[in-house]
Amino acid sequence: MARYTGPVCRQCRREGVKLFLKGDRCFTEKCAIQRRNTIPGQHGMGRKMAKEYGFQLREKQKAKRYYGILENQFRNYFETADRKEGVTGENLLTMIERRLDNVVYRAGFGESRREARQMVRHGHFAINGKKADIPSIILKVGDEISLRDRSKGLKRFEECAAELEAASANLPKWLSVDVSKFTVTVTALPQREDIDFEIEEHLIVELYSK
Ligand code: SF4
Repeated sequence: MARYTGPVCRQCRREGVKLFLKGDRCFTEKCAIQRRNTIPGQHGMGRKMAKEYGFQLREKQKAKRYYGILENQFRNYFETADRKEGVTGENLLTMIERRLDNVVYRAGFGESRREARQMVRHGHFAINGKKADIPSIILKVGDEISLRDRSKGLKRFEECAAELEAASANLPKWLSVDVSKFTVTVTALPQREDIDFEIEEHLIVELYSK
């Protein structure tokens, strides 16, 4: 399964915004964006004025990096979103929000989407009682994600109980978490306003529609 393995903070510096890819570190003064918000590389000190194509490209890259998705898969999501009724950009974001790794992260498992994805890949979760280790599964309303019994005693997941409790204060309204059972249920489809990430999705649609 292909994934980005390069320096993580470099992605934020390239986009000029915090993408929150490194968990707690992102909220400290060690964050690379706070220390040195320049484009990486030899010519990165000055930010060039982007033209129309540049803005569109940057929004797409920002979204891909935020969710940790590579180009081919991201384009597939776009094509699926485009075939659906409604506003393509909103369809795109609300579909990606329902990825298993994102839901696991939103619920409070893992400090970052990257860690949540690794937890999924390592087979710690089940959907409706069946083992699910593919991070890109798109969840439906009514799906219940649970921590598998064999994983409940692991130290990392014991620590997660406190993280789930803390995350429940900011839980998106389309999810519900039972901290005592380590379960997350998708209670509704996410709406555009439920996504707090600052992104102009219409620019992504314009880019792919050329
Ligand atoms: Fe991005 Fe987090 Fe690194 Fe800051 S610490 S640059 S927000 S990944």
